[in-house]
Amino acid sequence: MSLLTLKDIGKIYVSKSVVSIGIRGVNLSFDRGEFVAITGKSGSGKSTLLNVISGMDTYEEGELLIENSSTQYYTQKEWEEYREKYISFIFQDYNIIESCTVLQNVELALFHIANRQERRKRAIELLERVGLSNQLHQKASKLSGGQKQRTVIARALAKDSPIILADEPTGNLDSATSKEIIQLLKEVSVNKLCIIVTHNFDEVEEYATRHVRIFDGGVEYDHVVKPNESTENHQTEEKVKDISTKISLKNSFTLGKTIFTSRPKLSTFMCAFLIVAILILYGATIIVKEFFEDLNYQPTYFTPSSGRVIITTPDGSPISDETLTSIQEKTNAKDAINFDFLLDDHDFNQLYDNEKNETSARILRLDYEFQGDYGKNIYGRYPEKINEVFLYLPIGSKVDYSPEELLNQSIILEGNGFYDIVGVKYFRDNRKKGKALLTREGFDVLNRMVYLNYHLSSSSVNLSINQTSYTRYLRNFAVTFTEEKKVYVNPHSFEFIEESKPIEQLEMNFNFSFVQNDYDYQDDPTFQIQSSLTFSSTDISTSIPTDIIESTSMFEPEIVLSLDVLEELAQQAIYSHYHQASLFYKNNRVAKDKINTLKDMGYIVSLSNAKKTYLSDSADVFIEIMGIAIYLMFIVSAALFIYACTAKSFLAFKSDISIFRSMGIKTKEIKIAMLFRMLICLIPSFIFFAILSILFVYVPILNRTLPFFYLVDYLLIIFGMIFVSLFVTSLQLKKLYKISVKESLKGEIE
Ligand code: ADP
Ligand code: MG
Repeated sequence: MSLLTLKDIGKIYVSKSVVSIGIRGVNLSFDRGEFVAITGKSGSGKSTLLNVISGMDTYEEGELLIENSSTQYYTQKEWEEYREKYISFIFQDYNIIESCTVLQNVELALFHIANRQERRKRAIELLERVGLSNQLHQKASKLSGGQKQRTVIARALAKDSPIILADEPTGNLDSATSKEIIQLLKEVSVNKLCIIVTHNFDEVEEYATRHVRIFDGGVEYDHVVKPNESTENHQTEEKVKDISTKISLKNSFTLGKTIFTSRPKLSTFMCAFLIVAILILYGATIIVKEFFEDLNYQPTYFTPSSGRVIITTPDGSPISDETLTSIQEKTNAKDAINFDFLLDDHDFNQLYDNEKNETSARILRLDYEFQGDYGKNIYGRYPEKINEVFLYLPIGSKVDYSPEELLNQSIILEGNGFYDIVGVKYFRDNRKKGKALLTREGFDVLNRMVYLNYHLSSSSVNLSINQTSYTRYLRNFAVTFTEEKKVYVNPHSFEFIEESKPIEQLEMNFNFSFVQNDYDYQDDPTFQIQSSLTFSSTDISTSIPTDIIESTSMFEPEIVLSLDVLEELAQQAIYSHYHQASLFYKNNRVAKDKINTLKDMGYIVSLSNAKKTYLSDSADVFIEIMGIAIYLMFIVSAALFIYACTAKSFLAFKSDISIFRSMGIKTKEIKIAMLFRMLICLIPSFIFFAILSILFVYVPILNRTLPFFYLVDYLLIIFGMIFVSLFVTSLQLKKLYKISVKESLKGEIE
């Protein structure tokens, strides 16, 4: 049985309508132990023959048999396995990986040894054998021609393949070195088939067992010069061991790492470049986030909260507490607030320093809550009394006040008395407003206080309703009264409801207690001043006794009411104007389900949904699609950008990859290695990005101006980066693998 048989092999090159014959009608048969010299004039087809034998180039005619099995219908993958199993190739121009060390070059060919230490040991052994033990860590590009060829021979030996092909291995060497190399080849090819192409038969004559002369693509001459030693030893029947077809991720990783470290300049450039790319993606995310934030504009007088439904009566009649409780029970609401003015109020609040007896210049903007659970990491505690408050603040405010400082201070809420701060917690998104958490009772009181104060201190507010027509604006409500007609404008839905019932005259007489700057009016009766206030056609603020105004607050007249009076005033004076209540359900979906039930009960109903109130559903969908489209556009541009910038760097790997292929490293392993390399290149940008994101959270100044990034945003960018990089890499690989090994090697060399 022959190891290798060529039957009528022909190879034709077709390029630019020129057809040239590489080889034709070649019939040859080779065995182990042969040391074949192939000679012939330049252009006679020697290289073509070797390339066909090596499986680096295809043949069109005839058949190539390896261990008696045909290769005629081999797929690309099978050729790859063929190369890995049988072929070691030594080129005239070495095809060494210039950027790797001598040792690395050999180690790459030793992937069949799984253990790294063993691999290294074997590589050193092989290099000793070719006489290079002194140059192990020398960069291949610094070697002399002879040393390069020795490295390549060591590499060829590393695979321990049965066929060694050498295409003019001494073509670039002086005659003394040439002799050494041929001698070395002879030494190492015991029991192997070694085919050497040479233009100088003299230098191989001493060792060759056979001489084949090629002329014009055909075999002109084929002579046995010496007997084949190994045939005599009967070792030819030994079959070549099958190679593992498994893809080793470990090998790919090692290869990727070698590629990365072997070109430090290029790798540094790639890393720096990817940092820029990640910044671009980061910038794109900021733009998209800003874009969304602008579109999700919310009216400032409106506090969106999930599951909140607002009901109003069309006729302006108050919703009694009993009615509201029954609605709450009927519709399974978690909570109900009959007087929800404060939920939609967003006044500025000032911090008051007890010791210095002054308010801080810094203003906090707060939403209100009457219930809430803020989990762990709380400084202080939750409020228990009506004049206590828990603050949930953006972390940026920590720069101005530490939690310890805050816990000793009071806050003026809505200009309506002082609340002791008993607890604080911070959140990361500095662009969000803080929240003030009160007890339910405290919330109700503040609610009424805010409303009353709003009217009592404002001379522009006229509560007289004797006139036939007037227009008034409440923050939450625009109510227009025309002759015999009322029009309610509900800002949550911009629904207009017309009613034709005239509103009745409101006459009220109350006794008030005024206490200066102190919320604990009940405990200190000496501060209580009895006064009478009439809600009538006169302006409210002028009916407050001037001496009281002067003696009260340092900022504005402040009126503190007893809870009973407050409630009564609220019941009679406010409820008749403010006939809105809020019901709270588990979430927006549940709330939506309840809308019809509530409408059937005769109320005007609107859902307080965070983002969807302002726009119609289809507009929402459109905007969301737009946002996604814009983001995808950025991803694609980032991909193009990376592609453009890495394409050049990829050229540098083209020859390396071709050499890996010619060495018989599996395509998949090379591809995965290139992806691994890309991932390694990404590491610095991810570290950079991690530092950036930590800075972003812990240096609040940064995220006061830029939109806040949640973990999901960071993950989006990181996975976007990985996706784009790997996509670009595989695109480039695909391009490279379209051509055969022969062509890709040639493309680089010539
Ligand atoms: P040698 O190695 O003996 O100098 P080659 O095998 O390189 O010769 O070339 C044999 C013939 O095939 C030559 O006529 C050459 O022009 C042609 N040939 C080789 N490679 C190609 C190619 N890639 N495209 C077109 N013609 C080729
Ligand atoms: Mg040639």
